[in-house]
Amino acid sequence: MTILAIHGGAGGDGSWRGLTSLDPARIQCMHHVLQSIGEALDSGSIDALEAVTMAVELMENEPLFNAGIGSVLDEDGTVTMDASIMNGSDGAAGSVVNVRRIRHPIRAANCILKQGWPVMLNSEAADVFAINNGVEEVKPSWLVTDLRRKQWDRWRENNARPGATDEDDSVLDHDLEGMGTVGAVALDRNGDVAAATSTGGMTGKPKGRIGDTPIIGAGTWADQHIAVSCTGVGEAFIRTCAAHRLASKFESGLTLDEACSDVLDAVEPIGGRGGVIAVTTKGEVATPFQTMLMYRGVWKNGEITIGIGPNDVELDSMDS
Ligand code: ASP
Repeated sequence: MTILAIHGGAGGDGSWRGLTSLDPARIQCMHHVLQSIGEALDSGSIDALEAVTMAVELMENEPLFNAGIGSVLDEDGTVTMDASIMNGSDGAAGSVVNVRRIRHPIRAANCILKQGWPVMLNSEAADVFAINNGVEEVKPSWLVTDLRRKQWDRWRENNARPGATDEDDSVLDHDLEGMGTVGAVALDRNGDVAAATSTGGMTGKPKGRIGDTPIIGAGTWADQHIAVSCTGVGEAFIRTCAAHRLASKFESGLTLDEACSDVLDAVEPIGGRGGVIAVTTKGEVATPFQTMLMYRGVWKNGEITIGIGPNDVELDSMDS
């Protein structure tokens, strides 16, 4: 059995108002990721680690998600990106923090994982390492889209807190919001799992801020039983070691759904709202969230399901 699950970020407090005009493009991207990477995973031509790397790379390429090109802007109006990846079978991990000059932060994290030591690199040193290892170099300005610039302008005009325009529907409708961190978890034919997560963080984040996404055990975790990728207000996911907590609860005997609920219940009282995706080596998959929406999709045995709001999207009625 092979499984690929992806997310494109969670957010929003208000009630679900249906798809926006930009959502078909996001759905199309998710569908392409699930179909192409799901088939490659199923054929055995790639393993779980490569599947999550490639799935996240494809989502980093989509400007409507908050990772790679189209990442949200920090307080200075620039893009700084975080990413991490973990392999379940051997616990190998790699992570980059605050990179600015590469197209694919997740590939940089993968290169660090493969090198074996260290696990994390930050800022300019991480960019240089990635470029020297063949990750495509881009100009920092290439990563900035008009949509994110507008969102940042609104964030400044409103004098809003960091991330306000990412998650708060009273400030902006969700086409202009920064939710859109991306992640993937996969189970391959060998029965191994892996997890990957990539983000531009939160609009207006202070210089040097590090969210949960690049922190192994907070935003990303994989071991011999389960792989987890999280999205939401990162500080709460750091303070609860969310991804690792989910894995520990699962290993201690909670069902997958119970372990997911435990984590979402733990982040909520400390200002964390969001969602998780998880896949187990037994072939279970879950994509729960406590926000208004979470972009998400699953490929399992050739079947694709995609959702944004409370219910799955009717794929037949879409042009994807
Ligand atoms: N967790 C990310 C961060 O805090 C943001 C997100 O998932 O939307 O940087």
